[in-house]
Amino acid sequence: MPRKHLWLVACAVVLVWWSVPPGSGQVQVSDRARRVHDNAFVFDAHVHVVNRQFYHGGDMGQRVDDGQFDLVRAKEGGLDAMFFSLFVTEQYYPARLETKQVLRLMDAAYDQLAKNKDKIEVALNASDIDRIAAAGRMAAFMDLEGGFDLDGDLAVLRDLYRLGLRSFQLPAHNWANNFADSCCAPAKWHGLNERGRAVIREANRLGMVINISHASDETMAQALDVSADPIVATHHGLRSFNNIPRTMSDELLKKLAAKGGVIGFQIGNEFHNVKVFNWRTARAGKPFWDTTAIGRKEAGMTIEEVDALAAPAFPMIGVAAPDDIRLTPYEWLAVVDRAVELVGEDHVMLGSDFDGGPTLPRGMRDVRDLPILTEAMLKRGWSEERIRKFLGGNLLRVVRQVTGKKKLEKP
Ligand SMILES: [Zn+2]
Repeated sequence: MPRKHLWLVACAVVLVWWSVPPGSGQVQVSDRARRVHDNAFVFDAHVHVVNRQFYHGGDMGQRVDDGQFDLVRAKEGGLDAMFFSLFVTEQYYPARLETKQVLRLMDAAYDQLAKNKDKIEVALNASDIDRIAAAGRMAAFMDLEGGFDLDGDLAVLRDLYRLGLRSFQLPAHNWANNFADSCCAPAKWHGLNERGRAVIREANRLGMVINISHASDETMAQALDVSADPIVATHHGLRSFNNIPRTMSDELLKKLAAKGGVIGFQIGNEFHNVKVFNWRTARAGKPFWDTTAIGRKEAGMTIEEVDALAAPAFPMIGVAAPDDIRLTPYEWLAVVDRAVELVGEDHVMLGSDFDGGPTLPRGMRDVRDLPILTEAMLKRGWSEERIRKFLGGNLLRVVRQVTGKKKLEKP
């Protein structure tokens, strides 16, 4: 090759190298990132579990080649503990089958946990999490996505606590319930009513973690005023990146942090990236949180008929948005950096939402690829201490604070 051509090739190589932002696409996890990740306690604030097996059978301890989560891939991704999130979808609400569905999912959860005793164990408090992690197993902190009871009956809440439930959402996912407004349905109470405030006080007394993801702005603000304990938003985004009702304003984030709480960042694009949000909304003809079509049909259904209706959505994975509009892991972390600028590094955490439908950052396949995030955090200049706080330390602090108090006597 003539010299001139060699020079051109060299220029082209430099240009290509320049145009690839750090953390894009094919991320190689360095030895350092692997070491930092493996040494960190990784506690994910929101993983969708069990719904898949509830509807379609199977064992969460077996590797499957679809969806974003199973215990084998979770181990490869370095996961140590998780909010073990059971999801009561909106279809169960019109016929008031939601509490029965919670009970069925909790039964399915204990069945899956019994099948996988060597890998995972239920944790009722932070000391359990410490003990289980020290034994090399994963800790499952039982959490509910969706309504435990649309009326917020305190007796039902106490019974679910006795069954091991330790965290729940105030609103009924994207649906209006009879005590707290949701982000994504018309306001009924302008936040919380008296029952909603009683639910919060009872959760405080029992030592249950309150989750305000899916709550309306008014609900979030009032819950933060009423609660004696820190509150979490398990899987969220910032409104400054995507102005939708499901994200959090700077003002509310500051209020959450002032209370000692933590915001979890959903690992998808939809909450943080207007391009993917618009792409998805245009194709679906509605935003992802819209549940207005649910109602009349479901009101007359048996629970088995509702099961058949709900089943095809599981496992929930993201949409096939083109790579060129997806965030890289490095860009995804810019959202977390913005929150750190606003409230500091003690109030941010991972709330992946695996198997709950996130469209993952470019180059990430599923829970196996969590170390890619650590690689990108190092590239952004995060200290190892900040990485440890984000990956689990901050959430464990809140769980310790909330569950460490006197609890109900064991039955
Ligand atoms: Zn959710």
